[in-house]
Amino acid sequence: MGVIKALRGTRDILPDEVNYWQFVEATARQILANASYLEIRTPIFEATELFARGIGEATDVVGKEMYTFTSRGDNPYSITLRPEGTAGVVRSYIEQGLHTQGVQRLWYTGPMFRYERPQAGRQRQFHQLGVEVLGSADSRADAEVIALATHILQALGLKHLKLDLNSVGSPEDRAAYRSALIDYLTPYKDDLDEDSQDRLTRNPLRILDSKDQRTQEITQNAPILLDYLSDYSKHHFEKVQQLLTQLGITYQINPRLVRGLDYYTHTAFEIQSDDLGAQATVCGGGRYDGLVAELGGPQTPAVGWAMGLERLMILLQQIQQTPAKVVDFYLVSRGEVAEMQSLQLANKLRQMGFSVELDLSGAAFKKQFARADKSGAVACLILGDEEAASETVKFKWMATKEQTAIAQAELFANPDTLRQQLIAHR
Ligand code: ATP
Ligand code: MG
Repeated sequence: MGVIKALRGTRDILPDEVNYWQFVEATARQILANASYLEIRTPIFEATELFARGIGEATDVVGKEMYTFTSRGDNPYSITLRPEGTAGVVRSYIEQGLHTQGVQRLWYTGPMFRYERPQAGRQRQFHQLGVEVLGSADSRADAEVIALATHILQALGLKHLKLDLNSVGSPEDRAAYRSALIDYLTPYKDDLDEDSQDRLTRNPLRILDSKDQRTQEITQNAPILLDYLSDYSKHHFEKVQQLLTQLGITYQINPRLVRGLDYYTHTAFEIQSDDLGAQATVCGGGRYDGLVAELGGPQTPAVGWAMGLERLMILLQQIQQTPAKVVDFYLVSRGEVAEMQSLQLANKLRQMGFSVELDLSGAAFKKQFARADKSGAVACLILGDEEAASETVKFKWMATKEQTAIAQAELFANPDTLRQQLIAHR
């Protein structure tokens, strides 16, 4: 029969690689908990309209990349697999009344779906970890989320990262800038790439982050948004920069860094790595003071970011930054009575908090010992019918091969000492 394969743009994360994922999740979880961020889990599919309004019809994500289908039932409606996390979090914030409960500091992680051309660091099902601070306009919130992103990346041991920073001002600032930009670009219209020609009237700011070389040459001398900021916008941006400098976080201002929709405001930032080739951005975010109102909630300032976890894994695997697997005991048994008793022994040790890998093969001792050597266990427990009958067990330290016979009761008698010995023999 034909073999069924995983779909293009999706992949299996096998146990070896899961180590890296758990390391990233545990590191982020700890750092975010220390900053009083709480985890939120929202559905993986939502009403299509949420993303159309929440991300914007004019974006690539909504225009070209969504997995959208019609529900079953008598009154079919349009459903979309979430392409990002913010829209769902904001929907929940409004629907569940979180806006009545003060500033919300939230984080999430999980799979996202976009119909894109798969390549290294770009998939159709990929994973993000993100944070959102809802209900604060304070520049400290902008600096706090940026600091958390850099803290997480640093704690993972990642290097060669750079932080690009910009302000996209308020919608009013952008209206003035927009016409200046259109005036500048219109004479070059025919030289722009096709997407950019299309955006000239619909969403001209997005032309600034075109990847087309000729378009980039043209935008090099375009007017910049920073020159159109109001006093409030300028002040906010300066404060964010001061705070980052105070925190020792280096950044560079990149006037081409834009988020092209009306509900994005003020701070925009991206963290990129030199070690990722074309898919260089590991984290992107910014302020979105207009989004909660756009989705039907009260006017609420907010700021957040999302990290692409696949790209982090590529970087981690380059530096092999992952804790090795540690098992306390590898349990070898052979003989009818011994095998019957082995699970009981393993279970008891596990309930005491030790990790135990039980060899289920029933093979010759020699074969089981070979597997014990490979297992990464600190010690090997050996149970033959003789030991089983006398309720003893042979205890072998893997590092020194030193072996003693002890009563099973002795093994259970003093867990704290045993734990210390295991750590000392790692
Ligand atoms: P890009 O320019 O790389 O397409 P984006 O602007 O579409 O990124 P965001 O929507 O800001 O990305 O998502 C935040 C992060 O999620 C990105 O910086 C990236 O690390 C990751 N990401 C986005 N799309 C994908 C994808 N298809 N596969 C893997 N990671 C992705
Ligand atoms: Mg994209």
